[in-house]
Amino acid sequence: MADCIFCDIVSGDVPSDIVYENEYIVAFRDINPQAPVHVLVIPRRHVDNINALTAEDADMVGRLYLAARDVARQEGLAERGYRTVMNCNHEAGQTVFHLHLHVLGGRRLRWPPG
Ligand code: 5GP
Ligand code: ZN
Repeated sequence: MADCIFCDIVSGDVPSDIVYENEYIVAFRDINPQAPVHVLVIPRRHVDNINALTAEDADMVGRLYLAARDVARQEGLAERGYRTVMNCNHEAGQTVFHLHLHVLGGRRLRWPPG
């Protein structure tokens, strides 16, 4: 998709600190981390957000979580604990409209979120 920063990261046009990738998924460190570990897990294929998902995306959404699991293991968070967050639209704070799962950890996370 044109004018999508995360599509540009997938294509390699915009550099990023990639920590994990496979045929469907790319995961890279957030440029403005909110925790000692803050990784974004995204599908290679552009989807705006949760509202745009269809039944055909069920596999891909599952793969996002499997990748988040692997990233958490890789970053040493699996036993300590971590949070996955997917913001949808403006009031939730979505700023990049390419589906992404935040993986946050490495400190005690507060609940409820702000
Ligand atoms: P959202 O607010 O949409 O849920 O999350 C978007 C995230 O993408 C933010 O945490 C922001 O810091 C991150 N981000 C925005 N642009 C870039 C970029 O060019 N590179 C990286 N690595 N992260 C980005
Ligand atoms: Zn995109």
